[in-house]
Amino acid sequence: MTPLFLSHGSPMLYLTDTPAHRFLAALGAGLAPPRAIVVASAHWETSQPMVGAAARPATIHDFGGFPEPLHRARYPAPGDPAVAAAVASALAAAGIPAAIDPRRGFDHGVWVPFGIALPGAEIPIVPLSVQPDRDARHHLALGRALAPLARDGVLVVGSGAVTHNLHAARGQAVGAAAPAWVDAFREWVAARVAAGEVERLLAYRDEAPAAEVNHPSPEHFLPFFVALGAAGEGAVGYRLHASVEYGVIGMDAFAFAPPAWGRAA
Ligand code: ZN
Repeated sequence: MTPLFLSHGSPMLYLTDTPAHRFLAALGAGLAPPRAIVVASAHWETSQPMVGAAARPATIHDFGGFPEPLHRARYPAPGDPAVAAAVASALAAAGIPAAIDPRRGFDHGVWVPFGIALPGAEIPIVPLSVQPDRDARHHLALGRALAPLARDGVLVVGSGAVTHNLHAARGQAVGAAAPAWVDAFREWVAARVAAGEVERLLAYRDEAPAAEVNHPSPEHFLPFFVALGAAGEGAVGYRLHASVEYGVIGMDAFAFAPPAWGRAA
């Protein structure tokens, strides 16, 4: 399964008909069903990698002040304890100690995009945490460890945002135009992906335009590297979707094909 990076935006994405919402709906409708989905979410932050192994994960409403329908929303997809164990084993085999959380539910980084993409909630989802104290290279290594699972029918997804300055988003209309510092970062990422420049992407905090202002904290961009890593060495990347919401929340999505698939295409 081609690993994906999805920008989940504001929880309001679930209720709002925007280009990014329509993209996710179309993505899910066209997806060959994976046997399970592993989602590295910006909204599960831990110091050590954690893997959710609940058989019936609860829907976590990890936000406040949104309309009642969002607080009532449930995403009843099953978990997959066996795939969760396989994820933890794959990480351990790569020298990355990981722990199982038998109770973790779906935070909104999981259920907002998949509630839109796969509303039938039939495919098992295994949550994976990110480590905001660790760098991009650590998250690439997390993804690389999962590449064998990706080759074996598991969809590896990083769920975050290509740009994510919540302070600058406050008070903006959903359709507000993006300032130049947002587009500069988004286009830099897209160009590095298209060129396969993994080392430059890993150095994004030093090299990308306005990295600090687009990501005042790194957790929404770290899932990008998990998806990139899961496609293996020399992966070919494609931008699947490009849009911005609330002026500054980049909604871009990327697919990362393993090199063999790139040659075949
Ligand atoms: Zn988020």
